[in-house]
Amino acid sequence: MTDLVLRGGMVIDGTGAPERRADVAMRGDMIVAVERDVAANGATVLDVAGRVVAPGFIDIHSHSDEAMFVNDALESALHMGVTLVVCGNCGGSSAPVSGLAEAELDRELARLDVKRTWSSFGEYAAAVDRAKPAINVCSFVGHGTLRSCVMGADARPPSAAELERMRALLGRSMDEGAIGLASGLIYPPSAFGTTDELAALGAVVREKGGLYASHIRNESTRLLEAVAENVEIGRRAGVRVELSHHKAAGQSNWGKVRESTASIERARAEGVDVTADQYPYTASSTGLAVTIPNWVHEGGTQRMCERLKDPAVRERIRGEEVETGRAWDRIVIARARHHVEWAGKSVAELATAAGRDPLDWSCDALIEHEGAVDIVHHSMSEDDVRFVMAKRWVCIGSDSRANAPYGPLSFGKPHPRSYGTFPRVLGRYAREEGVLSLVDAVRKMTALTASRLRLRGRGILRSGAHADVVVFDPLVVADVATYEDPHRYPVGIEHVIVNGGLALASGETARGRHGRFLRLGADLGGR
Ligand SMILES: [Zn+2]
Repeated sequence: MTDLVLRGGMVIDGTGAPERRADVAMRGDMIVAVERDVAANGATVLDVAGRVVAPGFIDIHSHSDEAMFVNDALESALHMGVTLVVCGNCGGSSAPVSGLAEAELDRELARLDVKRTWSSFGEYAAAVDRAKPAINVCSFVGHGTLRSCVMGADARPPSAAELERMRALLGRSMDEGAIGLASGLIYPPSAFGTTDELAALGAVVREKGGLYASHIRNESTRLLEAVAENVEIGRRAGVRVELSHHKAAGQSNWGKVRESTASIERARAEGVDVTADQYPYTASSTGLAVTIPNWVHEGGTQRMCERLKDPAVRERIRGEEVETGRAWDRIVIARARHHVEWAGKSVAELATAAGRDPLDWSCDALIEHEGAVDIVHHSMSEDDVRFVMAKRWVCIGSDSRANAPYGPLSFGKPHPRSYGTFPRVLGRYAREEGVLSLVDAVRKMTALTASRLRLRGRGILRSGAHADVVVFDPLVVADVATYEDPHRYPVGIEHVIVNGGLALASGETARGRHGRFLRLGADLGGR
């Protein structure tokens, strides 16, 4: 018995093996055959001649932690061919929460009009399952979240007792399914964390068979030192390390990715299991609050906003460097919920129009929005993006929250990567520019990522694997979303199948919701 057959396509199985002509048959949530001339046996048959059939793409760096409670189809991710989003990145996760972590999450959820029904990681995982997302979800524990639960947003190392509580909470969360730990060392309170603390937490991740990911402490002037810190954490804790969205930010740092990737390759040769991921754009996106030094964030978002009202604090800030720099003409407002008209304009432009100094304008904007102003920062070089992409050990992640072109997620001008990342690598970088082959591009979105996560039976297209599948037209696939007009689905992604069910059919969101929360132990991880 077979439920669904994809007939006549070119299979790229994710492993890096050359493409070959084969039918793909599925029964229930499994792939049961990948071979020529599969018998239909009454199954639904989709003619996919001329199309590539590949494992569903895995977004190793997603911020869709709460998006499924607003848009259960996770549509911008689904339309890119993504069948698994890995959440909890850059130091922040939706669970576990208590104390300050609870207050900070609830403020964010209120903006999305979502009511929290969980505190522990296990309760969050169950809430995601109840939301019935269209695609699969898993999550790290955020290091900043962990710190907020145990020690608020204090700018100091943890006491021995606090460190033990963090280790216990991390261990319990991983027993409940978290895939590991992710730090965000430019974002307080994760940024207040020490190397010793992260190595001690990393040891828990190793014991439980998980992965440690890091938005490293500096991606500009001190890029190499920041890579070295995480290599040291990997070495000391014996934990596998994933360096998030690898890049060199700021024009004076362009080209440094050659040294940083060489240092990663040296560490790998010495036995530290460290890799990186990347998104295919020369702009980053984050919060406007990164233009404010860490000390101002001590105590949490509300304390930061109070401090920013003080002219003396502003004067001190003005005299201090911040990692992201303050190139106001390159910092563009993406989303500010009280001022939709700001979206797409630079801080320089908006401050001039308001007759304000850009730093004062930014402080006022942060106060008015309780710290929640999103920016797009044009900070990288195209040469660096290409150089990193050509590295075989670098996988692809969007670094975005799933959006949708309608409803509450459609406002502002968010970074186009939430709609374009995977098609852009396949279209622009593989087909048009030849930076990598199509087969290798698929590998970097599937089997390579799956091997980092130690996913069981996903990220590979073979009989016996879970039926997470994408069908795309290799001659057409491309991103369409731009910085000016970001809420646009890509072209060429035709069908997406999640756990055997059609989630995207002929380019349209299907009605079925077949995604699951994937848990450490049952679905992935292990030593
Ligand atoms: Zn990040």
